[in-house]
Amino acid sequence: MKILTEPIGSVPRPKYLVDGLKAFAQQEIKGAELDILIDAALKDTISRFEQTGSTVITDGEQSKPSFATYPINGLTTLAPNGVVIPFADGHTRQLPTITTGPFKYQAYASSYLAKAKQLTNLPVKQAVIAVSAISLLYPAEGIASYPHEHFIADLLNEAEADIRQSLQGGAYNVQIDFTEARLALKLDPSAGLLKSFIDLNNKVLERFTAAERKKIGVHSCPGGDHDSTHSADISYAGLLPYLFQLKAGNFYLEFAGEKDKRSVLGFIKESMQPEQRVFLGVIDVLNPRIETPEEVRDLIFEALDVLPISQFGTTDDCGFSPFADDASTSRDTAFEKIKARVKGTQLAEQLLQR
Ligand SMILES: [Zn+2]
Repeated sequence: MKILTEPIGSVPRPKYLVDGLKAFAQQEIKGAELDILIDAALKDTISRFEQTGSTVITDGEQSKPSFATYPINGLTTLAPNGVVIPFADGHTRQLPTITTGPFKYQAYASSYLAKAKQLTNLPVKQAVIAVSAISLLYPAEGIASYPHEHFIADLLNEAEADIRQSLQGGAYNVQIDFTEARLALKLDPSAGLLKSFIDLNNKVLERFTAAERKKIGVHSCPGGDHDSTHSADISYAGLLPYLFQLKAGNFYLEFAGEKDKRSVLGFIKESMQPEQRVFLGVIDVLNPRIETPEEVRDLIFEALDVLPISQFGTTDDCGFSPFADDASTSRDTAFEKIKARVKGTQLAEQLLQR
């Protein structure tokens, strides 16, 4: 029996690219100069990804400024005073707000996919940001000339286009990054905010056919940045019954970093629907220690004690560097961890075939 295994998305950028992105943001280098750096990093990333033995790869998100902000990169009608996301180690990330409408994505994820596909024959998975995350860009005080409902209508169209163009561009599948799911329960324990996020994301998913939704997945985690999280203290027990209401075929869930894995497996089994598949994180992206393939294999068997193999797959807990400037994990470590996931998944498969 085959066990599917897929990465989440991001790989730490090489230092020359981190420096280049910074220089570009400060207008010290031109777009064409940055593109040279991005292309070099992309080529190296794809080649190293191929060497991990992965049957599905990503572009390592080398061209994305972050998993969440690529649609607004370069947008000039932004104010810096948006939602603040606090992490456990005390650092924060703050989103901007838009100042006017109509809202248009500056970049679609399919542009990254097209570049990656030129460099490899392996299937390429493409991550996109959840519409719920981008919805946070509308300012709390409102915009007189651009009512909230107009913004949401524009946003739903843009988010649909972002997914559809990647599917049409030949993505192996599309993953919606929904890292604010668990955070939503932390900000609003009544689950009202989480429910509104689920509703909004379903409005986009409902625009796709059942066959298309089999190729659309959702990633949820407690947030990973500079080896810290924003919502690891929130239990999966409250989150999963809502999360599996999303009309998506695949779910990519942080798992290796969870303390009480048995309970988490039970919550997943209770909440997941028959047509859904869950890819469990078997690699802890926040821990610099590289897992052994045997550890990965054992974790898979622990999961298969509870979950049916026909609805199971493996992944990493999160991307290795969701924000471009996060260099807390080295590229070497990231690729070694990916190798351990691939190898460990193969070990489990071999044992199952005996
Ligand atoms: Zn994540």
